[in-house]
Amino acid sequence: MNPQPLAGKHAVVTGGGRGIGAAIAAELAQAGARLTLMGRNRSSLEARAQQMNAEVHIETCDVTSPDEVKRAFRAAQEALGPITILVNNAGQAESQPFSKTDLGLWQRMLSVNLTGTFLCTQAALPGMLEAGWGRIVNIASTAGLKGYPYVSAYSAAKHGVVGLTRSLALELARQNITVNAVCPGFSETELLEASIARIVQKTGRTPAEARAELARHNPQGRLVEPTEVAQAVLWLCLPGSAALTGQAIAVAGGEVM
Ligand code: NDP
Repeated sequence: MNPQPLAGKHAVVTGGGRGIGAAIAAELAQAGARLTLMGRNRSSLEARAQQMNAEVHIETCDVTSPDEVKRAFRAAQEALGPITILVNNAGQAESQPFSKTDLGLWQRMLSVNLTGTFLCTQAALPGMLEAGWGRIVNIASTAGLKGYPYVSAYSAAKHGVVGLTRSLALELARQNITVNAVCPGFSETELLEASIARIVQKTGRTPAEARAELARHNPQGRLVEPTEVAQAVLWLCLPGSAALTGQAIAVAGGEVM
């Protein structure tokens, strides 16, 4: 077995400074890819890059800004060459009952989770078409496959990511470029800690009770580890995964089937 199946490939991971994105970056780097990590916070990107034993470039970029995205992808390509792997991982999850979901929250969720994925894909795709090979993996969520109460805007955005994935996969099916979504269940990251804090504040439950409540969604009775999500992403990026496209793969202990 080739220990470095992605040697020579340049992968961009948005939101690569922490959480699931950092785990994905580590997994792709171990498989030999050169990495560009993108996110808004330069110091967390720098800290992550220093921890990685690989060729890593960083670009600060807010994925909701068309101009920043264009600039960052251009700079990444100049630094490490053509981008043939894109992992759209940057995301945020705010919750409110629907009656308190104002237009601002709605637009924030669509903007970062869905429009960000659109903008980064538009920026990376021409290079993949030119290279005649590409892998696009969108980190959606189980909330892109089913509903949960109090996250209608987030869930709508993530369902949108799955729809974008399926349509683009068909458009690119004959171009040697695959497009897939990975849909994690509740996973151990800062994003989850923020959800736990909100549950504690709104319901008076203890943090342990709130955590246990989220873990109960998963038939395995636990939270998902970022590395488990990262391994699914790596598999989709491998050269041998060419027949896998248009899929939305839940990494959630059987929560969705
Ligand atoms: P974290 O909050 O730990 O990390 C989110 C990452 O996204 C950070 O690196 C952050 O970097 C980046 N980010 C956020 N907003 C922007 C923006 N506007 N532009 C660029 N980067 C941005 O979350 P997770 O690791 O948990 O989440 C990663 C992905 O996985 C998200 O898409 C999330 O929806 C999804 N997911 C997570 C689940 C979970 O339970 N944790 C479950 C299902 C899906 P910075 O702040 O520096 O910009």
